[in-house]
Amino acid sequence: MNSKNINGTNFIFDNCDTVELAQTFGTPLYVISEDRIKSKCEDIRKNFLMKYPNTKAAYASKAFLTMAMCKIIDREGLGLDVVSGGELYTAIKANFPMERIMFHGSNKSYEELALAVTHNIGRIIVDNVYELEMLERIAKEQGKKVAILFRITPGVGGNTHEYITTGQKDSKFGIPLEKEIIEYAVRKSMDSSNIHLKGFHFHVGSQLFEISSHILAIQVVLDLMKNLKEELGFITEELNTGGGFGIQYTDEDEATKSVPFFIDPIMETIKEGCNEANLDMPMIIIEPGRWIVGEAGITLYTLGAIKEIPNVRTYASVDGGLPDNPRPALYKAKYDAIVANKANQKAEEVVTIAGKCCETGDILIWDLKVPKVTSGDILAVLNTGAYNYSMASNYNKLPRPAVVLVSQGDAQLIVEREKYEHLLDREVIPEHLDNIQSTKLTFGA
Ligand SMILES: *Cc1c(COP(=O)(O)O)cnc(C)c1O
Repeated sequence: MNSKNINGTNFIFDNCDTVELAQTFGTPLYVISEDRIKSKCEDIRKNFLMKYPNTKAAYASKAFLTMAMCKIIDREGLGLDVVSGGELYTAIKANFPMERIMFHGSNKSYEELALAVTHNIGRIIVDNVYELEMLERIAKEQGKKVAILFRITPGVGGNTHEYITTGQKDSKFGIPLEKEIIEYAVRKSMDSSNIHLKGFHFHVGSQLFEISSHILAIQVVLDLMKNLKEELGFITEELNTGGGFGIQYTDEDEATKSVPFFIDPIMETIKEGCNEANLDMPMIIIEPGRWIVGEAGITLYTLGAIKEIPNVRTYASVDGGLPDNPRPALYKAKYDAIVANKANQKAEEVVTIAGKCCETGDILIWDLKVPKVTSGDILAVLNTGAYNYSMASNYNKLPRPAVVLVSQGDAQLIVEREKYEHLLDREVIPEHLDNIQSTKLTFGA
């Protein structure tokens, strides 16, 4: 969805002139398109929720979460995945329907679980036996029966970067499928009057362009369902097949797939497997994050220093970088970009887009073809909607950018730009350091 719309000379995003956005709100600036999120949600409703009975879809909020995003997801009729007390708190403050929330995470704390139980959230995805025991205690204390799924480790990896594959056996996530371990956990839940085990969840990895890992994982789960029915009389009511659907970041990636590419084989495999093993079809839940919001976001920067090293390369530096988009440094992730104020001009040079951090690795894009660039140009990095704002840091004490929500030419601030004083909000100088005499001893006379 790299729609390179232009209006005169400027790059237009969801009917907004991006150069005007940069002037109005400053840079760096995250811009999120409400309409693009909406159209992804529509695809999910039409090709999954309405096409197949007994299904649910949740948005994996760690990709991008603000209270405004909670409102959009609520309006679009999806559920919400959270993985921390902070994400849950955001949803609570946005009045998101609690019964549509699923809580994941490999090491939830007592306080996080207690908050979830207090608010009667829809499902807790229990990652290990330690968590199960803690949750049972909390549910008992609050006099409640809590609906859970077990996250299992299906023993298949996703075909993607090793840091974002999660389903392989040697993983920190999920309950291993060794018979004695999984049966112990299931039996323990069945015996508890405060726990209602509804089924299982797996998530094989992220940024996937094929469905084979999902299919392998489903086969593993079908075996598990069959064994648990025979051995313990346990009936699996729900199966959550995770997220991971990939998007196209650059020309090197395949085009983004629409919902049927992923969903139809998943549903077909589960249906056939259940028929063969004489199992009731469970409710199927999916939870895409990146696929919903990744292509809905761009980041606007202003170009500053441009340094040409003769016969080597030209570095064009932006007023942000690693703190607002750590993915290139973290995963060698690749992005494409447009010079927003020269969107109608032909590429005539190749520059490397450098961030402003004191890190050699702070390069946003290597070898980007651009029109002749000058300091002051506005650069729009594309497809930054997922895992940018949500992964942002204050490294080098850079204030985090503002976030603007655009829709049909309208632009609304949904997160204010951080100011220097915000950076010091929670800092404290201990008393014994508060009145020191500034010394010249080490700094020189
Ligand atoms: C991160 C995550 C997702 C979403 O992953 P995407 O690649 O963004 O779709 C879904 N489920 C779980 C449990 C996750 O941890």
